[in-house]
Amino acid sequence: MSSTVAAQVAVENPANGSVVGVVPDMTPEEVAALAARLRAAQPAWEALGPRGRKKHLLAWLNWITDNRDRLLGLVHQEAGKSWGDAQIELLVAVEVINYVTKHGEKFLAEETPSPHNVSAISKRLRLIRRPHQLVGIITPWNYPLAMPMMDVPGALMAGAAVLTKPSEVTPLAWAEAVRGWNEEIGAPPVLGVATGLGATGAAVVEQVDMVQFTGSTETGRRIGIRAAERLIPASLELGGKDAMIVLDDADLDRAVHGALWGGLFNAGQSCVAVERIYVEAPAYDEFVGRLVKAAEELRVGHDEQGSFATDYGAMANEKQMEIVERQVADAVAKGATVLTGGQRRTDGLFYPPTVLTGVDHSMLVMTEETFGPLLPVMKVANEAEAVRLANDSPYGLAGSVWTSTPARGVRVGTQVETGGMNINNAMTNVFQFPLPMGGWKSSGLGHRFGGANGIRKYCRQQAFVSERVNVKRELHWYPYTH
Ligand code: NAD
Repeated sequence: MSSTVAAQVAVENPANGSVVGVVPDMTPEEVAALAARLRAAQPAWEALGPRGRKKHLLAWLNWITDNRDRLLGLVHQEAGKSWGDAQIELLVAVEVINYVTKHGEKFLAEETPSPHNVSAISKRLRLIRRPHQLVGIITPWNYPLAMPMMDVPGALMAGAAVLTKPSEVTPLAWAEAVRGWNEEIGAPPVLGVATGLGATGAAVVEQVDMVQFTGSTETGRRIGIRAAERLIPASLELGGKDAMIVLDDADLDRAVHGALWGGLFNAGQSCVAVERIYVEAPAYDEFVGRLVKAAEELRVGHDEQGSFATDYGAMANEKQMEIVERQVADAVAKGATVLTGGQRRTDGLFYPPTVLTGVDHSMLVMTEETFGPLLPVMKVANEAEAVRLANDSPYGLAGSVWTSTPARGVRVGTQVETGGMNINNAMTNVFQFPLPMGGWKSSGLGHRFGGANGIRKYCRQQAFVSERVNVKRELHWYPYTH
């Protein structure tokens, strides 16, 4: 949670309300000054080339791993997560930096396509990639370190300077990581952090040459409109309503535990969380029974750093809690049954694992993004009904199909309209870095995270054509003859 004190933002641990830090609420003038400093440093950064830049990124990674307990301690406090859930933030930093430094040079290399026809034979064609000078990366609160870490290393590897804007709810771990870059490893000053409220984010959009945004669909749309007015590219990663389809031949033990982790990890506050479950009729009773039993065994609360004593922790803020409560009340009023959970706790912003049945698409819990620990389960007659319901959503981020028949998984999974799909797993597509990750429909726009595009999207392409020196003139030049 956060509140402003003069020109500062206080950061609170949502698990107990204690203030764990304060950051400046930067004004548009301060953002502009920071942007100017980053721009001034960018040409020398680009001139280092991929190999030179890689050295600094790997030095940063070493510093991050050496300081992991402190960085993850900040995540644990500012987000109120369990210590176990916090670990993934380090994993993302390690894997993304390793991936972009291993493949960056290859992805950025000049390409020399062959001439496509006889008249082009005298020409040398080159596709050159040059970075945008200053990239803005704006991120939400659910993964304070991992969210910027998904995108920042690729942008730095591309040779851009990067102006980041972490969420005002959770800016501390990321601000410390940026301090490490600038003050601890002696890297060129091409990475900056603008802390503050939404207005600071809007000021970032005014300064940069390209913007990468992750967060709500509403803010993403606003940023996309402003980027269009400024004629700068915007890459948007937005919300989701991921469907889990359990077919009648699924390994139900794996499906149940996949639903628990995929739906409840980080208290369900993930864009690719399992948000709704469709189970084929023959497997439905068994799946629901096992799901309720396993959900009731989970431990919820704020544990000590290093203890792994709870599975998931607090909701990020009262606003998120209210969304969860509103969706449960709406579902119950329309006839749903709460099999376990369904009531917030009184000792903090904790909400227990909640399994709902008797749900349908007239209910908010099946149509609106939840971002909370709810598992609504719906019985379906067959694959076709599951696909139809999965696609009955404005979102198209990711999803999963659970079956013991690989061909069924492919048949059903390819009919679901999402940017990511997992067979017998949930959320894992996010961590397969050779693949592009991003949403269809209202879940996203623009290039993707992961693969070559995760680095190339921070570049402009220059189509570079050189004539051989001994060619006097082109046949089609003036003056025309016959
Ligand atoms: P948000 O979209 O309000 O904020 C995300 C970031 O954008 C923050 O850093 C914020 O300060 C900044 N911002 C706000 N207004 C801005 C503006 N006009 N211009 C530029 N930047 C601006 O999201 P949030 O408050 O972090 O979370 C709210 C909702 O977003 C959640 O309930 C959830 O639905 C969704 N969400 C999605 C993801 C995801 O990964 N897709 C992650 C977290 C939250």
